[in-house]
Amino acid sequence: MADAHDLIVIGGNAGGLSAAVFARRSGLDRVTVLEPGTTLALPGVAGEFGLDVSYGETVVSVELQDDDLVVTTHRQCYRSRAVLVALRSPIEDWAPDIPTVTGERVHIDEIPSPANDVDVLVVGHTDQAVELTVRLADLGAGVVLAAGGMNPRRLSPVGAQLLNDLERERRATLLYSSRPQQIADVDGFPMAYFNDRRTPDLQFDHVVFSSGRRAVGPADVGASDAALGAGRLWFLGQDDETPEGAPSAPGASIGRDLVTAVFPDAAIPAPEPSAWSRHEVPGVTEELRQEHYNATITHFEPTHSDLWVLRVRPDHGSVSHLPGQYASLGLGYWEERVDDAIEANIDERWDKLVRRSYSISHRIFDEHGYLADEVGSDELEFYIVLVPPTPDNVPGLTPRLALKKPGDRIYLGPKVAGRYTLAPVTDPADTVVFLSTGTGEAPQNAMVTELLRKGHHGPIVSAVSVRQWADLGYLDQHRRLEQRFANYHYVPLPTREPDVPKRYIQDLIAGDVFAADLGITLDPQNTHVFLCGNPAMIGLPEGGDDGDQTFPETVGVVQLLVERGFTLDHRKKRGNIHYEEYW
Ligand SMILES: Cc1cc2nc3c(=O)[nH]c(=O)nc-3n(C[C@H](O)[C@H](O)[C@H](O)COP(=O)(O)OP(=O)(O)OC[C@H]3O[C@@H](n4cnc5c(N)ncnc54)[C@H](O)[C@@H]3O)c2cc1C
Repeated sequence: MADAHDLIVIGGNAGGLSAAVFARRSGLDRVTVLEPGTTLALPGVAGEFGLDVSYGETVVSVELQDDDLVVTTHRQCYRSRAVLVALRSPIEDWAPDIPTVTGERVHIDEIPSPANDVDVLVVGHTDQAVELTVRLADLGAGVVLAAGGMNPRRLSPVGAQLLNDLERERRATLLYSSRPQQIADVDGFPMAYFNDRRTPDLQFDHVVFSSGRRAVGPADVGASDAALGAGRLWFLGQDDETPEGAPSAPGASIGRDLVTAVFPDAAIPAPEPSAWSRHEVPGVTEELRQEHYNATITHFEPTHSDLWVLRVRPDHGSVSHLPGQYASLGLGYWEERVDDAIEANIDERWDKLVRRSYSISHRIFDEHGYLADEVGSDELEFYIVLVPPTPDNVPGLTPRLALKKPGDRIYLGPKVAGRYTLAPVTDPADTVVFLSTGTGEAPQNAMVTELLRKGHHGPIVSAVSVRQWADLGYLDQHRRLEQRFANYHYVPLPTREPDVPKRYIQDLIAGDVFAADLGITLDPQNTHVFLCGNPAMIGLPEGGDDGDQTFPETVGVVQLLVERGFTLDHRKKRGNIHYEEYW
């Protein structure tokens, strides 16, 4: 038998690899990972950290001989000072706890094949979900990890670092607080419905559930009582089967706990500073920006102090999208706020990103005065308003965005999504009506420009409700557009201007104002209505099916249109009322 090792890690998953990396960083030279399979759960890690890995090793026993632990596999014996059992095994009969379709596009703990160029949703919040996400991204999939319930501090350090890298490089989207409520089949592909209004429904090529798996106990590796009693045979994770006295720790700390306990003379690295202590280190905000931000604000034009048109250019990846879709922007909680509002638990979140969805807006004219065409552009335009704090809510993102200027860095999520698009408008003679509140005009601008560029000749109307004239960031451009295109009409509705009668979007429909003022009738046979912004204006009914709808007490546009024979474009059922709610 060769010289004794310092540490043998059984199982090349995120927890095991993190412990091996920590041991190497603590100056222990003889560290080997025994992996039963043919690849590690995080394949790039061995090379990056110079780990010694032996594949296809199934452990039969762990025994104590002459004060060393002896690990016997089907192939050979290893003598070591310490052993970490990091294996996890499937939980029998595990099934998702949400209603889910089955079939070849929904998987449990499995990587779909082929995985390149497909969109995959991974559902889970543990190290194993991170492992699946990293592997899928490495194989070239577009991955969204729905990690509702995840505490990044509980992840194994190596997994947390790889996840962070993937986000920064825009190779995966992480939804920390979202979890789907249901996975349904829509046109043969899995559709994820979220219970969180900020994460609208998303459709994927595949969905992969992470079961979390079960930590294995002494019996699974044939551990003898003497080996267990030595205090140097450790187990990853807390588990009922781990006998009293056999040390174990979660993936986030197992490396440090084990090395500190078994090798007190090792050169143990100082702990990573906590979020709060990092806060106090000079230069740390710049370091955090470099770690997390992946895009530059190239243009930041205030319409007024609280309303901005901005453009963002990502470092990597494309910005291709359909008019009407949305992306996500993020800034660190470490960034300064324009207001003095105090956020709860800011110490715990201080080094994290606050992310929000934003519809992609659109320039209407280019610098030469032509109708703007963003195809081939490397930037995205957004139209965003500052949200003030209220007794019930301290807004996270917009008070930080308020202090940004061109050249500043920001986080842009990799996933552009949304089914609020022009797909249902197939006849260029149709009437298309866009109704919005405030910045709900953003996607409408993108869709209006697209329709006109494509030669749509039916009537197009865009009406927007705001408080004051000053709240109309694109007013001049819309007026020019009306002069160029006889079939286009812009109807701004300021509600707090002394010279303008107060009219809400609902009044336009209830009073048939488009017919009276513009000669445009809203006929459900040939009209599509797009609603965006304040949910009260939209007024979605409770209950999905058209026959069984209860409308909100305050009458919204959907109710008025349904009474005129329109139908809601609602998940599986396509209709002619399309909507995007902002909260
Ligand atoms: C698909 C989608 C697209 C969106 N697109 C845009 C967009 O293009 N422009 C934009 O400004 N916002 C947009 N939003 C809203 C955006 O995601 C944030 O909620 C908003 O910027 C506030 O973020 P915050 O962290 O500052 O405040 P939060 O703590 O998130 O405050 C949320 C509260 O702010 C209010 N609020 C949120 N958005 C608005 C708004 N646009 N106008 C007035 N009040 C609002 C509501 O009362 C809401 O309950 C969109 C939301 C969704 C789901």
